[in-house]
Amino acid sequence: MPSSLADLAERFRITNGKKFRLKDVDPGDTGKLKSPEKATELLRESVRLMSEFQEKLYAQDRWALLLVFQAMDAAGKDGTIKHVMSGVNPQGCEVSSFKAPSDLELDHDFLWRTAKALPERGRIGIFNRSYYEDVLVVRVHPEFLAGGKLPPKLITKGIWDERFESIRAFERHLARNGTVVRKFFLHVSKAEQKKRFLARLNEPEKNWKFSANDVKERARWDEYQDAYEDMIRHTATKDAPWYVVPADNKWFTRLVVASAIIETLQSLDLHFPKVDKAKLRELAEAKDSLMREK
Ligand code: AMP
Ligand code: MG
Repeated sequence: MPSSLADLAERFRITNGKKFRLKDVDPGDTGKLKSPEKATELLRESVRLMSEFQEKLYAQDRWALLLVFQAMDAAGKDGTIKHVMSGVNPQGCEVSSFKAPSDLELDHDFLWRTAKALPERGRIGIFNRSYYEDVLVVRVHPEFLAGGKLPPKLITKGIWDERFESIRAFERHLARNGTVVRKFFLHVSKAEQKKRFLARLNEPEKNWKFSANDVKERARWDEYQDAYEDMIRHTATKDAPWYVVPADNKWFTRLVVASAIIETLQSLDLHFPKVDKAKLRELAEAKDSLMREK
């Protein structure tokens, strides 16, 4: 892999959140890349690499990869997922989206619905939103907690710290059992979000993407930023790092995400399973019998 590609994501990886400050990451950052051209070329190369790695991941059938995406509206989650995974065999990959929980989901703990969607060994699972919504939207809207089914006695001031603890333990458990977890926060600026919302309102083919609720959530911008920062501070770990990805330039966002995924897959030392002597004999016999067919 070109070294520029390998290094790209490293700057944005947080493995220890204690000192993390969101304001230290500039949503408009594009590193050394000044224009989309070079980035597009690198993205193409990384999509090709990812496809190679994924074949081995699948054949080896030992590791699973879980990619979690979180962001404010219009930060580019959907487009990033679409572009970055474009070269991956659909058989080896599954995207799960998490919206407001159903009655059945509210009947369980907040990790339950996502646990059911975890990738099998050999597969890549993508969470478009995740259990992190339960320390984000639910934190910004405490009425969601009150409207849920938790026993009121358990809704205390300490609930967010308790949830962070549950999440850290859950991710650690996954790591110990062969599911590699990588998390992406696409960090868009408030000004860029406004631009993208206006595009959704002004361009008929983008109208479908707009929801009136998006503007309401935008009004809580600062509360969301605080919730994101606190989430990253408490859940960025070695086992399950956060990548805080500048998201004002889509071409850069996609490249950083692709680079992080490649770096991760590369670290797993994937290879096609070795064929043993007995299997080689079996193959030779099969070939023989095919050749003897009339
Ligand atoms: P979208 O991804 O644009 O279709 O929107 C999905 C919506 O579901 C977002 O506004 C999320 O904040 C919301 N959502 C996801 N998970 C939860 C949750 N656990 N509780 C409440 N709302 C949620
Ligand atoms: Mg939306």
